[in-house]
Amino acid sequence: MRTHLCGELRPEHAGKSVELCGWVARRREHGEHLAFVDVRDHTGVVQCVVDNTIDVRNEYVVRITGVVRARPDGTANPNLPTGEVEVGECKVEVLRSADPPPFPIDARADEVEEGTRLQYRYLDLRRQRMQRNLRVRAAINSSLRRSMETQGFVEVETPVLVPSTPEGAREFLVPSRKEPGSFYALPQSPQLFKQLLMVAGVDRYYQIARCLRDEDMRADRQYEFTQLDAEMSFVGQDDVLGAIGAAVLDAAETVTGERPLEIERMTWQQAMDRYGVDKPDLRFGMELVELTDAFAATEFKAFAGAAAIKGLRVPGAASEYGRNQLDRLTDRAQSLGAKGLVWLKVAADGLLESPVARFLSTEETGTLVQRLDAAPGDLLLVVADDWMTAVEVLGQLRNDLGQPPVHDGPYRYVWVVEFPMFVGVDEQGRPKPAHHPFTMPHPDDLELLSTDPMAVRSQAYDLVLNGWELGSGSIRIHDPALQRRVFAVLGIDAAEADRRFGFFLNPFEYGAPPHGGFGMGIDRLAAILAGEENIREVIAFPKTQSGADLMTRSPRPVDAAQLTTLGIRVVPPPA
Ligand code: ASP
Repeated sequence: MRTHLCGELRPEHAGKSVELCGWVARRREHGEHLAFVDVRDHTGVVQCVVDNTIDVRNEYVVRITGVVRARPDGTANPNLPTGEVEVGECKVEVLRSADPPPFPIDARADEVEEGTRLQYRYLDLRRQRMQRNLRVRAAINSSLRRSMETQGFVEVETPVLVPSTPEGAREFLVPSRKEPGSFYALPQSPQLFKQLLMVAGVDRYYQIARCLRDEDMRADRQYEFTQLDAEMSFVGQDDVLGAIGAAVLDAAETVTGERPLEIERMTWQQAMDRYGVDKPDLRFGMELVELTDAFAATEFKAFAGAAAIKGLRVPGAASEYGRNQLDRLTDRAQSLGAKGLVWLKVAADGLLESPVARFLSTEETGTLVQRLDAAPGDLLLVVADDWMTAVEVLGQLRNDLGQPPVHDGPYRYVWVVEFPMFVGVDEQGRPKPAHHPFTMPHPDDLELLSTDPMAVRSQAYDLVLNGWELGSGSIRIHDPALQRRVFAVLGIDAAEADRRFGFFLNPFEYGAPPHGGFGMGIDRLAAILAGEENIREVIAFPKTQSGADLMTRSPRPVDAAQLTTLGIRVVPPPA
């Protein structure tokens, strides 16, 4: 139906007869007999000059036949890629009329309430920004596929109706009709199947896989999300990082036109010590500073005997923070779990102004200033607590006070390696796995499994970009004796292991190769590379914060008959 796309017309097309199809983006009357009609398709808009008796309005679907010509002198529009040309002598065919849209199909819709955009998503997606986002995402997928295949990975599809698996997140359940009272789960990830594919000898598996987790939604989280999921046999950690890293850098290069220099690497311990978080944003400084030893002999009660004392310098912020803001910072620190927050301002003469300054010795304040590299005008924040609380609280304050929007500035990719094997304890006081219970411990820490399990590092790793976790993975345990030792730490005996994970671990008895893998969030990568703050913007049909699809109005009740077939009765929610 067309010879050209709207957005591609340029002065070199002048004199050409063209046929275009698209939507009317704008109409302006021009003199007595003519109208300018901007026609839009996914490539952009172009101005068409038409007889003003023709009834075309916004969002009418039209086919235009006309001749490209240079715009008259002085009327070019430098803000538009097609701004030097227009299409004249137009014949207009209305393919379909349209109701007036609920919001303008252009950048002005960015200001429209998001619920309205989601309700009319098919109109929202018609906009340039959203068309670009869809295409960024598609380019990432296709580049990832290319890269994985070049590296010898084989795409295998895994089921969406799966058993409930122990990966940590709450699952969506699907009732079975054949076996009322029994349920499938929707996969949190293809974890179980990809590991079994290694037992099956596939060697290198990948999939662009939909994963489902019934978790509270945030800017970087949806019920349904997409992962580049991969697993490899006969490899160590560096092989996995190498393969996934190459695919991610390829995808980034495809979208941005520039290959990121490298993916940095740091241990979890370093990330926590320096940034107070396991997904450090390396685009800005403000690193946490170790102060524990500087106050070893202090007389200041709040610091004396603290397991860890950490400091953070907020450059030049002293004058911005009045009493109220400082109180609010202290409240924030306390709500994050700290017992308190000490603040100090560096005055013009280099002396420290703070309610606690008089409790600190000259030597202590001297060390503080020197370690934090403090200069007049800086605001210094100090937390004394157990190590984890001290670093996490300051790490959060660092992000609160310094973190730029996720897509601002350079892209800083970093592998965080050597995560701890266990974090925290459950109600019975047993360690909880940090990744999942099939993660291989660090080879140097095997002895600690029985003596000091909380100190055991694992061969689990995350990929982080600009403070967002892009994905996680690990080398897996393939040795049953080691798996039993890890289960023992978790308080899972042989009978329970068999009951809960037998379907997964028994196949390993038939010869499981050493293997490891990774799951990388494509929505997150696409959002950052597209310059978006929220993954909803790179998902064609996302859910709202509360899990609703406003366009199709789901979830919604189903017929009683459907429930009966499934053997399900809905109990009214408690009053
Ligand atoms: N299944 C894991 C996840 O979704 C990734 C992996 O360990 O490969 O985080």
